Order: sequence, then C-alpha cells, then structure tokens
Amino acid sequence: MADIIDGRAIARELDETTKAQVDALVASGGPRPGLAVVLVGDDPASDVYVSHKVKACARLGVNSFENRLPATTSQADLLALIERLNADAEVHGILCQVPLPKHIDARLVLEAISPDKDVDGFHPMNAGRLMTGTGGIPACTPLGVMKLLASVVPDPSGLDALVIGRSNIVGKPVALMLLAANCTVTVAHSRTRDLPAIARRSDIIVAAIGIPRFVRGDWVKPGAVLIDVGINRITGEDGKERLVGDVAFDEVGHAKAVTPVPGGAGPMTIACLLHNTVQAAKASVG
Ligand code: NAD
Repeated sequence: MADIIDGRAIARELDETTKAQVDALVASGGPRPGLAVVLVGDDPASDVYVSHKVKACARLGVNSFENRLPATTSQADLLALIERLNADAEVHGILCQVPLPKHIDARLVLEAISPDKDVDGFHPMNAGRLMTGTGGIPACTPLGVMKLLASVVPDPSGLDALVIGRSNIVGKPVALMLLAANCTVTVAHSRTRDLPAIARRSDIIVAAIGIPRFVRGDWVKPGAVLIDVGINRITGEDGKERLVGDVAFDEVGHAKAVTPVPGGAGPMTIACLLHNTVQAAKASVG
C-alpha cells in the first residue's frame, strides 16, 4: 500500500518551528511579526479562509490585523489601504483575499503590495525571483507541495516530475521549484496530448487541475509519489457533500506515497503563509 503523507502532521511541525522563530525574534528585541488580512465583500468561502488564517496567527503568536471592507469598496480606497499597510512598520505581511469584487482589478491590487510584504508570493517581483533563483518570497501552496514531497523524497534530483496545471498560483511556481530541486519537469495542461502516457513515466506527479479523480490509477507507475493539490466539493452517493482531490485516491495503492484530500496539501498552505510572514519580519530587521 502507498504511504499516506500526513499534511496535518507536517503542517503542525512547521508551525512549531515558526512559533519558535517568533519567540526567538521577540526575545532578541525584534518585532512581533504581523499579518494584515484584507477581505473585500462577503464571499462565505473567503470568510472561512480568513478566519482560519487569523486563528493560525493567534496560535503562533503572530499579530493579525483584519481589514474587512464592504463589497462596494472602490478600487481607489482599497489601493489607499494597501499603501497604508505597506508603510505600517507593525505589518510584515499583507494578504488580500481573492476573489475580489468584479469592479476591482485584482492584478493592480496584488501588484500594489510591497514585494517585501507579499507573503502570498504572488507579486511579479517574487515570481521573477523564483524564476531566476534569486530568493524572494515563495508562493504558499507550492512551498507546501515541496515540503510534502521532501517528507518522502528528501532529494528528488534527476527524477521525472509531472505538474498537471499551469496556473500562476500553483502549477507554474511548483514547476519552477521542482526545476530548482533538479527534477526533469514536464508541465501539462488542458491542451496536452496523451497525458496518461506522460504520467506513466513520471516519478513524481503534482495534480493541480480542479477536476475530481482526474488522475487515474492506471496513469501511475508503481513507486511514484503523488501530491494532490486539488480541492473539489462533490456530492456522494449518500447525498452528503465531501471534499475529494484530483487523484483517484482509491486507485493508487501501488504508488510509493500519496497525499490525501482533505489533510494533505490544504493544511500546508496556511502553515507556509505564517512561515513566510515570520521570514518577512526577520528580513525587516536585517
Ligand atoms: P486553475 O483553474 O487556475 O488551473 C487549473 C489548471 O488545470 C489549468 O492550468 C488547466 O490548463 C489545467 N487543466 C484543466 N483541465 C485539464 C485537463 N483536462 N487536462 C490537463 N490539465 C487541465 O486552478 P488552480 O488555482 O491552479 O487550482 C487547481 C486546484 O487546486 C483546484 O482544485 C483548487 O481548488 C486547488 N487549490 C488548492 C490549494 C490548497 O490546497 N491550499 C490552493 C490553491 C488551489
């Protein structure tokens, strides 16, 4: 049977390290790390995500500053808030929850965040730093993927890695991180031909598509490692809603290891967000 990679346990371990770094920073006279969270409108899913992030801050001793704005907030007012947060010495990380209301240009807002405080790692400056291997703040979900992978394959150098999905927030940065770890990387997407054949020769598969059970058991070679980023809400035969990933989990027992959904990549994202915030606070004092 494939090993189940326990994302909750790995996230807890990362949280412990992050908390120890917070304590050490404060004990040495440094600032208490602070994360500003901006939520525009009342999207219920975004509301849940923001609450989880604020709770995680409290757990780790990180200050959180919640900015909940009505859906009617103008783009100019939102940009003015980002400017204030950029200048606020108590704020080391700024997270603007997406999706934003339609009248606001999300790209403009994300690019207004100072790259030094862009703890989501979405700013083009940080994306460019990842591409050129020159530091910067790494995107949270991709960083979590790499930590999950490292828990079963400490050195993936030379392995064939397949990333399915090419979004700016998951697929592309994961591909760059795998490349930096010396994998031979293939990025597949909706126009890719004969994806099952590519998958069958891959040692590592990262699935970030958003289609339930997309990666089937007969696409997976024995001993491969599967990191499932997909989060899909489906209605089971019992009529109850549940979450499933992009991998047909019950068909991949011949893999070396696989992440479950829920409990795999999901918990890592917030842990990496807090990790990034603390690194930003440390960088702010040199
Ligand atoms: P996206 O919709 O931006 O991108 C999906 C990608 O899948 C696209 O690049 C597309 O080319 C590819 N794709 C679509 N159909 C395909 C097909 N038939 N064959 C091959 N490739 C195909 O999605 P995203 O934002 O990258 O998110 C992907 C999944 O990851 C979603 O389920 C999302 O909910 C989840 N997600 C999870 C986390 C987390 O765990 N914290 C974070 C972000 C996203």
